[in-house]
Amino acid sequence: MTHRGQLSERDGVPVYGNYINGTWQAAASGKTGENRNPAKPDDLIGHFASSSAEDVEAAIAAAEEAGPAWAAMSPIARSNILYKASEILLARASKVGADLTREMGKTLKEGIGETSRAGQILRYFAGELHQPDGEHYASANPETLLFTMREPIGVCGMITPWNFPIAIPAWKIAPALAFGNTVVLKPASLTPLSAVNLIEALDEAGIPAGVVNLVTGSAGAVGDPLVADDRVKAISFTGSNAVGNGIKEVASARGAKVQLELGGKNPAIVLADADFDHAVTQVINGAMMSAGQKCTATSRAIVDRKIADKLTNALTDRIGKLSVGDPMAETTTIGPLISQEAADRVAGDIQKGAGEGASIAVGGTRPDQPGHFVTPTLFTGVTPESFLGQEELFGPVLGVIPVDDMDEAVAVANQVRYGLSASIFTRDIGRALRFVRSVQAGIVHVNSETAGAEPHVPFGGYKGSSSYSREQGKAARDFYTQVKTVYFDPPPTA
Ligand code: NAP
Repeated sequence: MTHRGQLSERDGVPVYGNYINGTWQAAASGKTGENRNPAKPDDLIGHFASSSAEDVEAAIAAAEEAGPAWAAMSPIARSNILYKASEILLARASKVGADLTREMGKTLKEGIGETSRAGQILRYFAGELHQPDGEHYASANPETLLFTMREPIGVCGMITPWNFPIAIPAWKIAPALAFGNTVVLKPASLTPLSAVNLIEALDEAGIPAGVVNLVTGSAGAVGDPLVADDRVKAISFTGSNAVGNGIKEVASARGAKVQLELGGKNPAIVLADADFDHAVTQVINGAMMSAGQKCTATSRAIVDRKIADKLTNALTDRIGKLSVGDPMAETTTIGPLISQEAADRVAGDIQKGAGEGASIAVGGTRPDQPGHFVTPTLFTGVTPESFLGQEELFGPVLGVIPVDDMDEAVAVANQVRYGLSASIFTRDIGRALRFVRSVQAGIVHVNSETAGAEPHVPFGGYKGSSSYSREQGKAARDFYTQVKTVYFDPPPTA
């Protein structure tokens, strides 16, 4: 597959551009930055535009210019473009998924799965435009037709992380475009190729010039001017709490609509009556897939003391057998972390956890091979208030916290500043329901892992994991539209 976004080659390595006003183009400065494979750092994937405020300015101007015609276009015509983009992406999911794995490090199965999900998101929002929009109300005046309609906000700025480098841009861009907004996307610096692949699908589907724009480059050079620009009426951000809260301060102060999806410290409660083997499998999947680099990853196994030793032994055994290595290989279950810096940070956090008195049951090492690998790690003796009990590590690290009963389990689950997702494993539907009602989390699973989200239902967290708004499904419409209330009276009869 030739990339539309590829401008040239340098020593056999592709050079990719920004997508501004319908044209793939180099950064105004001509500068580029490298993107490397986290499993094989010698593998140089591409050179990507290292953009500056000048490129952001051009992208915002293009998005603003394109806005009125896009908003005025028939929703069915917009739907057709999104649907076509979904078909293009789904048809090339294997290739795009392999690109994703090469630059991000999750296994090929996960890379292809995420790409398919991005295609399904585009398809869902194409379909959403065939759904009823607005509401009709009774009026005090019998002559009045009283109704609401939804209208776009305008230019939307999207800032996205590297851990779901195609699904997250898709779940922001698809609803924004569907409801008539225009977009400037700043993807994570570590995963620009997945963003290029997504934008290429929209480009090939015939999106009009300026409606969607991609500007790659660093947080300061691209992110800051995007967040600060008054023409950008909404900012949707997914990433870390520190960055998200800073962005909210700047964008809210100038009156923009802001949506934040942030970190998690997600618990899986395992009660003594759970289907034991199922719980072990699900807890490991939740904690270790994508090397634990999911906002919804399980990082605390809160377990009934009666089965704590049995669960610890089973987790130790199974986690020790996970195959760590090249994510392109079919036999691999755990790939690398995203970067050397991330691997160093997680390794340091493991040492810190051990220094606080928790014990490493398995893992905790750096395999002696190139690539940013950390072995999947299980801690025992984790206390709820400790560093390991409280902080998001964003790596393949799970801590076991024994508790006496269900009430203590829920109290421990809630004793963190985050509230993204949570799960419980039990056969007791009464306890399961009590958990659903009392756990402070935006996404709750009964007898399944904490990770995993379908595109047609709301996604987001409680407390420090989110900014109250939700993404995906019908919830996305609330963020990407504003409501107009119409009192429609006939002219007085003569
Ligand atoms: P991050 O460092 O906050 O970066 C996220 C994005 O923000 C990147 O595109 C980054 O650009 C950009 N950015 C950084 N500083 C900025 C600034 N001052 N102004 C504007 N943009 C700026 O997060 P990350 O390390 O990529 O992602 C990991 C975090 O995301 C974890 O905490 C995880 O839980 C969270 N996450 C949450 C969800 C959710 O839905 N709740 C989903 C996935 C991930 P550069 O790449 O150029 O630095």
